[in-house]
Amino acid sequence: MNLENIRVVLIETSHPGNIGATARAMKNMGLKELVLVNPKYFPHDNATERAGGADDILANALIVDDLKTAIADCELVMGTSARERSLPWPSCDPRQAAEKISPVSHQANVALVFGRERTGLFNEELHVCHWHIIIPTNSEYSSLNLAAAVQVICYELRMTDMITIPLQEQFEWATADEMQAFYCELEKVLTHIKFYKPELPRQLLPRMQRLFNRARLEKNEMTLLRGIFAKILRTTVNY
Ligand code: SAH
Repeated sequence: MNLENIRVVLIETSHPGNIGATARAMKNMGLKELVLVNPKYFPHDNATERAGGADDILANALIVDDLKTAIADCELVMGTSARERSLPWPSCDPRQAAEKISPVSHQANVALVFGRERTGLFNEELHVCHWHIIIPTNSEYSSLNLAAAVQVICYELRMTDMITIPLQEQFEWATADEMQAFYCELEKVLTHIKFYKPELPRQLLPRMQRLFNRARLEKNEMTLLRGIFAKILRTTVNY
């Protein structure tokens, strides 16, 4: 595990106290990189207060406008949510997540994405993630406080960090922004051959996203598929 390559992304946090408590949870467990997507109030005294001695994490936090920018250079993106979705995403618990993250973190950036206090992660945000981490909780009261959820996941990363997981063969994975470009081309080609009809979407695009995220494309596999798309666009006649 290389905790330095693991970034925590908080989306549109309403309560600055939660940002501070997140910084503290991260520093306790040895993580450093915090990215805030459109925080409602930041910087803020409540954030500094709750951070305690982790104010260096707040000082270095990056503020960005959208999730896409926050995860652009990441090769593994994990979303967190208490809720199962109507289109279920590949899911795991925090311990399994730590085992998946560990080998990747040695060679690439990894993002852990957390949602809003009231409304959590939107489906479109979960759909850019390779995995959906669900912290197992009481089904009648399943949602943790935001910073508590960050704490649980960072704790599992630390626990996994303490046992050595052998390094896996090194792959060059496609990054999140490369995958974004890939999905745009996929949509273009599926529309062109009229397999995808924007007026009747039937969740085709998120299903495709789920398939390719589950497969996790290597850079050269993605290039190969993009080459195939380009050829289809050039050679198919409109029908
Ligand atoms: N009412 C929101 C809950 C938001 S809690 C909802 O329905 O989704 C704030 C954030 O904490 C969530 O977006 C998620 O990132 C994290 N979180 C809270 N409970 C969690 C759980 N049981 N498993 C995984 N993440 C959780």
